[in-house]
This record gives sequence, C-alpha cells and structure tokens, in this order.
Amino acid sequence: MNSPVDDLLKLPGITVERYSQVEGCIFFELKINDAQVNCYRCQQSSQELHRQTILLVRDLPAFGQPVYLRVPRRQFYCRHCQRYFTEKLDFITWRHKQTKRYEEQIYQRVLYSNIEQVGREEQLSPEIVESIFKSTSNQVKKKDWSRVERLSIDEVSKRKGHKNFVTVVSDIDSSSLMEVIDSHKQKDIIEALKQQPIDLREQVREVSVDMWAGFRKVVIEVFPNAAVVIDRFHVMKLVNERLNKIRRLAKVTTKGSRYLLLKNHQDLTESEQAALELILNQSACLRIAYEMKEEFRDIYETCQSVESGKHRMSQWLVHAQVFYGKVTRTIRSHLSEICNDFISHTTSAVMEGINNKIKLIMRLGYGITNFENLRSRLLGCFP
Ligand SMILES: [Zn+2]
Repeated sequence: MNSPVDDLLKLPGITVERYSQVEGCIFFELKINDAQVNCYRCQQSSQELHRQTILLVRDLPAFGQPVYLRVPRRQFYCRHCQRYFTEKLDFITWRHKQTKRYEEQIYQRVLYSNIEQVGREEQLSPEIVESIFKSTSNQVKKKDWSRVERLSIDEVSKRKGHKNFVTVVSDIDSSSLMEVIDSHKQKDIIEALKQQPIDLREQVREVSVDMWAGFRKVVIEVFPNAAVVIDRFHVMKLVNERLNKIRRLAKVTTKGSRYLLLKNHQDLTESEQAALELILNQSACLRIAYEMKEEFRDIYETCQSVESGKHRMSQWLVHAQVFYGKVTRTIRSHLSEICNDFISHTTSAVMEGINNKIKLIMRLGYGITNFENLRSRLLGCFP
C-alpha cells in the first residue's frame, strides 16, 4: 500500500524511503518498486542489477520550498543482448536533471513572463531556464496532425493597427493552433504547410479561409481533397463593417451605438434593446440596414443545408443590394464557397475564440521581436 507521502508525490511505481529538510530545501529519497526492467534494445526483462548510483533531480516546489528527488539510477545486465543498459524513467527526460513536470511548469511560466525572472524566482541560472524552455518548446512545437480534418487559415496582425501579419493555422475540431507562419505571402504559406507529409494533408477535407484569393490557391496546392469554405466569421465581419459605415453616414453618433448595432439582437438585454430602439429612431435608413443585417445573421442561424442557405442568401442579395452595394457583390462572387459553411456549420465560434486568444497572447508578449519566440509562445499556449 502507498504511504501518504507516496500519494502526494504522485510518481507511479515509486516509494519514498525517507525525506529530510536541509537549508530550506526538501529532499526525497526514492525507491523504484519494480525489481525487473525491460531492456530498451530487445524489450526482454532483466533482474540482474549491475550497479546503482544516485541522481539528484529537481522537482516541483512544495510549501514554498525547492524539492529535490534522490532517484536511483540503475544499470542492469541483459543476457539476451549481452550488454549493460541503464533504466529509463518515465518522469525524467533522458539525461535531464529536472522532472518532466517541473520542466513543463518552468516552460509555462516563461511563456507568460521571461527567462530572467523565472530564473530568479526558482534560483536557477538563466542558461538552465533557457535550455529547459527550448527543449520543452521543441516538444510542444511537434503538433499532432494525424487526426486533422478541418482547418482554418487566417491572418493576424502582429501589433494592433499594423499591417505586419502572421498566418495562423488552426484545427477546428480540437480548437487548437497547429502552425504559425511569419508571412502572409502565398508561397511562404505553401512552403511551410508542405512540411507535413502528403498522407496527412490528404486527410483534410475542409479548410476555412477569408475572401482573400491567395488562401484559396494555398488550399488547392496543399490540401488536394479539401473543400474551400469561406467562414461565417469573415462574411459577418464584412456585413457588420458596412452597417457601421451606414451608421456613420447617417450621422448617428450616440455613445455605444456601434456596439448595440453589431451585437446579435437575441443577446441584447432589455435595457440594451430600449437603447437600440432610440438609436434606430434617428434614421430610417439605418433601421432598414440593421434589419437586413439581422436577417443575414438569421440565414446562418437557421439554414441547415447548402441548398436552403444558397436560396435564402440569393434572395437577400437582391434586396440588400441598395444598402450593402459592394458587400453584396463580394458575397455573390464567392457564393458557393460561402455556402459550404452550411455543411458543418460550427466554425465561426471556434475561429472567433482562437483569434481572440491569439490576440491576447500577442498583447501579453508585446515587445517579442524574435519570431521563433512568438511562435513557441503561441503554440505553447494552445493544448
Ligand atoms: Zn537486451
């Protein structure tokens, strides 16, 4: 049976033999329960312990004090290979002097702070913190593409209001960021995404993009079996921008009017609905344009098939033409791809969530000029 200390330590197959406190640090002396170990070359088990030394390994702090584990480093003899081998432990990366969980914690803290500060707080040299950060981020950067079927490709400006973009690629089904590319040029994006083997790229059946033609060429080139979907998020953004312009043209400048007009009507509180009513009373044009926006949103909310979506959108385009001029022309020229959104219909909220999180991380990381650091930080902040 486990002792209470074993339970606290949460290292399976390990027993704490004793612990001590020396100069403000806690030391645990560990014993490995299993007497036999599989040879890593031939997988045959061996009980022939040849030599045992002690490795001092840093672990997560406890009660505000640094924790060190005294871990047996066992060398066995394998009769099958006729060679010695050293046991590898799950909770420590080979040749590292910290547990994996401690390294993971250091990595996360550096993401939201910086190497020098974490080093000071943990009494580790900046060199050690940096090497932990690098080795962990190399593991994090290896994203698992094996189950990716639906992707979104989007661009995010590095700094608010700047035309300096990175391209972000996300897995819609797992809401995870898969890749960040330091460019929004077609050729660079294609090159970066082609790093993934073709059999994984062939599994992708849907890619959501905005209306920029460059992304469409990327999809055709990189994901041969994928349908291009222009997602609702970007189409709604166009409609909303136009509605806001109509508001300005109608000289409606009431405080909060932009917010109230763009927010989904069904999400408005009673007092917000009353405030909106006062705003719409100021301009008949604005009222019509607002109702058209809500009708457009309703198409997305209620249509369940590509056919019905296409039908209602075509009707909308006809009577919205006067108010939404250029926007209706853009939508019309991409209508099939926009209506592909009705196939699975779940993209928009996910995309919005991912985009907001990316923007937040970019703001937190303000001043990160090195792209590799920014990329590590972004990829590391998503599961
Ligand atoms: Zn062997």
